[in-house]
Amino acid sequence: MQFKVGEWIVLSTVDKAVLAKCTKAEKPFKAVIQVPGGDDEHLEFKGSDVIANLGENPRFGSVHGLTIEPLRRTVRHEFWGDIRLYQVLDEVAVSDFRKGLKRVQAKIERNKFPVLPLEVDVRHPKGKTKGMFKHRPTKDTDLMTLRVGSDDLVEGDFDEIVSHEYAHGLWFRNMTLSERLKWVHLYHKFVTLIHVTKKQLDGILEDVEAENDIGAFMRGCDAETLIIFKECLRHIKNVHSLDKHHLQMCLSLNESIGDYWPESLEISEKEIAVDTYAHSSPEELFATSFSFWFSGKKLPKVIQSLLDSSISKFTKG
Ligand SMILES: [Zn+2]
Repeated sequence: MQFKVGEWIVLSTVDKAVLAKCTKAEKPFKAVIQVPGGDDEHLEFKGSDVIANLGENPRFGSVHGLTIEPLRRTVRHEFWGDIRLYQVLDEVAVSDFRKGLKRVQAKIERNKFPVLPLEVDVRHPKGKTKGMFKHRPTKDTDLMTLRVGSDDLVEGDFDEIVSHEYAHGLWFRNMTLSERLKWVHLYHKFVTLIHVTKKQLDGILEDVEAENDIGAFMRGCDAETLIIFKECLRHIKNVHSLDKHHLQMCLSLNESIGDYWPESLEISEKEIAVDTYAHSSPEELFATSFSFWFSGKKLPKVIQSLLDSSISKFTKG
């Protein structure tokens, strides 16, 4: 297959295909593989290793099971650090993106919040996650990944996405342990433990055994029972290392599954505090709350007051 310097090629290596950019088109052929957030990997290859040539400017997509998303450009920014553009943005999007970053920066500076040691990867939108933050304690910088589409570049949304990731950086770099612990306590306030009684559990066991079919039971029971039943399955998995289909084997032969059934259970239920995403951890509660406040959304009083106290510490430090 023909290839030139600067073209993106797919190489077949011993165990997998890799995307690389050709850096030398005479023998010995050389190419470079981009390593996200790390040092690029240089390698030599044989002409017969090349299984596809995607040209100098490949489109975002998937080829030979590989995600094709080469780095297009790196912009060095005094506030945001190196901004690496993987996403192909049109002129309007570039301008909106620039304005957005400027606006968020201005607001951070106006509040006298810290400048974080960052690198920013701008990638193509994929799934629901618009941003990601990777704290790298052994490196000088943390990595903020933005997966924003043109719909996300409007003021409120963009500011919320970026400030959310920025907040993760504050958590790691600028909050003391005791300050973080306050968020753990607040988070725990929104979690209610529900104790499931033996009587309830026995009742469910009886119903499942009568039904003889786990799938049918799960489809037919009410929402609360379903939550408890799923917890029972998790318990059986943890304690007895048995899966749903093992239990189904017993039931199919009219054998009791009582030996594996829990005697008691505790289930935690979370109240809607900020939005559902804030439920996943204290870190997310903090980052979501920060970004809500930052982009002008209202927060419940108890959260706003803790946020105010955390924020006042950033400006001092
Ligand atoms: Zn987050």
